[in-house]
Amino acid sequence: MTESMASTTPATAAPARPPLTIRMHERDNVAIVANDGGLAAGTALACGLVLRERVPQGHKVALADIAAGAPVLRYGVAIGHALADIPAGSWVHERLLKMPDAVGLDELPIATVRPAPLPPLQGYTFEGYRNADGSVGTRNILAITQTVQCVAGVTACAVQRIKAELLPRFPNVDDVVALEHGYGCGVAIDAPDAVVPIRTLRNISLNPNFGGELMVVSLGCEKLQPERLLPPGSFGIVDQRQVVDSGGGADAALDVVCLQDDAHVGFMAMVEAIVRQAEPHLERLNARRRVTVPASELVVGVQCGGSDAFSGITANPAVGFCSDLLVRAGASVMFSEVTEVRDAIDQLTSRATTPEVAAALIREMAWYDTYLQRGRVDRSANTTPGNKQGGLSNIVEKAMGSIVKSGSAPISGVLAPGEKLEHRGLTFAATPASDFICGTLQLAAGMNLHVFTTGRGTPYGLAAVPVIKVATRSELARRWHDLMDVNAGTIADGTAGIEDVGWELFRLMLDVASGRRRTWAEHWKLHNALVLFNPAPVT
Ligand code: CA
Repeated sequence: MTESMASTTPATAAPARPPLTIRMHERDNVAIVANDGGLAAGTALACGLVLRERVPQGHKVALADIAAGAPVLRYGVAIGHALADIPAGSWVHERLLKMPDAVGLDELPIATVRPAPLPPLQGYTFEGYRNADGSVGTRNILAITQTVQCVAGVTACAVQRIKAELLPRFPNVDDVVALEHGYGCGVAIDAPDAVVPIRTLRNISLNPNFGGELMVVSLGCEKLQPERLLPPGSFGIVDQRQVVDSGGGADAALDVVCLQDDAHVGFMAMVEAIVRQAEPHLERLNARRRVTVPASELVVGVQCGGSDAFSGITANPAVGFCSDLLVRAGASVMFSEVTEVRDAIDQLTSRATTPEVAAALIREMAWYDTYLQRGRVDRSANTTPGNKQGGLSNIVEKAMGSIVKSGSAPISGVLAPGEKLEHRGLTFAATPASDFICGTLQLAAGMNLHVFTTGRGTPYGLAAVPVIKVATRSELARRWHDLMDVNAGTIADGTAGIEDVGWELFRLMLDVASGRRRTWAEHWKLHNALVLFNPAPVT
């Protein structure tokens, strides 16, 4: 039997490889079945245990008898309590588990872990675009900001023309991207929580990959007026050379095309105005050149999507190892996804560098608890049918596998949704776990490189920033050979270690950041929508 046939072998047949199970912690009373296709009833494990029933790949097998009410331990923590007696060798699926209550926020360990400082990692560089404010872009993109969804169609037509008619003359410019979104009008713009979508959109416009070339398309009558989106003084990144006569607008320093201006007679005049005003931005972007910069200029956002039980064994630990390398190199790393860290909040507050950082972590958790309560759900609403098919019984198990993306470095910063990152090291950027909203908020924070782990598989990509996708399983990496950039499944196969894949990812990051390599999502131009997080009412 060949290796490639193994994944299509009927589950009742003998596996091609010896039975392989993975236990994450010595206290654990369950292990994960690693073999493609799972393991059949009657299979004897290396420890002598015989499976009482078939256990699918990525799912848990009981290593010992677990009495009803006893904890089921993975990662050394209780991911649930047995709802019935579970004999050793049984398949431990979500229907056998009662989920533990969420950890309270009142008596958490605060800044108790004092890890030895990680040794600095020096000498690593990449080729990037240095901006006037000191930030560094990994791509050279003209972004067209929009104040409101109403202008999206006209802007899209203009972008098509800019790409066809102007871009060939500016070969150093990678792309032209319309920052389309659903916000801007029909919303309670003075509600306290409206600050989140507004600052998100503002800070995305200032992302390092856009070179400070701010250009805005506005409708005219919308609630989110250009000067509210980008008030004077809010866009320090912008080189004042680009002051453009906006046709008498209130904010002459901001380059705005307002579609309702009397000057525009008909559709073609609007498109023409956007194309015309894009040209000087493209000229300046085109004149830029990549320069060698230290790896400390990387601003990496990590997240996961379409997770399975391997996420926490292979891809996420490799990303965590790489995250430590980045922190050692002086770079900025953000991890996010509140509902996927909520059950491990005690591990995060203990890793905070100061009580203030721990307090900020608790503040963000409390805000999100309240947000979910308003919708009459809790964090258990996070897990998907695919997560469960992939072996993740509940959000506690998912969370324990998710936070390992953050590595072992101390947590030195916390961002509220939509805020801009101002310092280096490891930061928790509070976002929903929704892939699109998380990516959008990390873009606003200033991410110039994105790492995305997936076990079930998602073709996720963003227009504004390269997305490196890491597969948790070799079977997925083979099947999606032209979508996955790194295969962390080699860790479960036993052919590579966590450190090997972590270093592979680190080196790939420098190549991708330098433009020497393109990710598969870039190659195929897979661009998911920007999705703003709007916790405020819609009118
Ligand atoms: Ca996600």
